[in-house]
Amino acid sequence: MNKYLKGAALAVLAVSAGYAAHRSSNKQLCSGFLPENDMKIELSGDVHMNTIQEAMFNRVLDRVQQVYGPIIASKGGTLVINRKWTDGTVNASAYQSGGNWYLNMYGGLARHAATTEEGFMLVACHELGHHIGGYPKMSWATNEGGADYFATLKCMRNMYGGAAPLGEVDPYADKACQSQFGDEPTRNACRNGVRGGQSVAFLFQALRNSPTPPKFDTPDTSVTSRMNNAHPDTQCRLDTYFQGAACNASLGTDVSNSDPNVGSCTKKNGQVVGIRPRCWYKPPADEPNFSEAPMASKKLELKSSEEVGTRIEALREVLLGRGV
Ligand SMILES: [Zn+2]
Repeated sequence: MNKYLKGAALAVLAVSAGYAAHRSSNKQLCSGFLPENDMKIELSGDVHMNTIQEAMFNRVLDRVQQVYGPIIASKGGTLVINRKWTDGTVNASAYQSGGNWYLNMYGGLARHAATTEEGFMLVACHELGHHIGGYPKMSWATNEGGADYFATLKCMRNMYGGAAPLGEVDPYADKACQSQFGDEPTRNACRNGVRGGQSVAFLFQALRNSPTPPKFDTPDTSVTSRMNNAHPDTQCRLDTYFQGAACNASLGTDVSNSDPNVGSCTKKNGQVVGIRPRCWYKPPADEPNFSEAPMASKKLELKSSEEVGTRIEALREVLLGRGV
């Protein structure tokens, strides 16, 4: 059994078939990072199995406040992080009220065996992404896939800088980080996003009792016919974290609320790696219509002339040394 999943069997989960509704009327942005679930991991549990203790919980959230407090202030809001360490809820959420932009961060999520430091940081980054993650918006907030993409595209890089990863990095994903970035600090920034994404993807898998582990080299090849604003499936979310981490757009260029090409990787920008996965993202009409990122396409069975075209383009990019 995967070591990240060792705690999953401790709880009987009641995971709803659907996802939490998003209630824009009361400015609830993300009513749950995870699907609604009845799991509670109280402080009285076996703390020795947990990576995250209270000091680390606070250290992560101190860092979030330090880095993003001023950024949110520059956008007219006040970042308020509700530190619910004693609350056993395995989730996180975001909302706005008055001038305050809130993150609710729960101890139960931090205490889950799948949650590493980078995973917990990534969840905070996802919640921030609802506030400032840019395009695409649902109502006035960034949608779920967009918040995931922002988490590794910008936020995890800002949180960790070029610091070396805290543990081993998946070899397939590491190859992408090495291919996309030319020096160790920027590669490390990619790697930290990868590690955070893997942690929370294992958490999704555990909460769903899914027998299939999400992997970097088994991307979701589905192509959505419309923008999916809700939580994508587990593999699709991992793909989004991976692509955001692998995007080599300038970190100094902020994302835009209206233009998906700004500060991001898109086909229209000429990029073939690091783009928002098509399993949830429906690009604007002026985006070249390729069905998936080339990082994914190398493993695909060819099913249509469009996919053949995508595959050929991906191989050409690889031969040009731009792909992975
Ligand atoms: Zn969310």
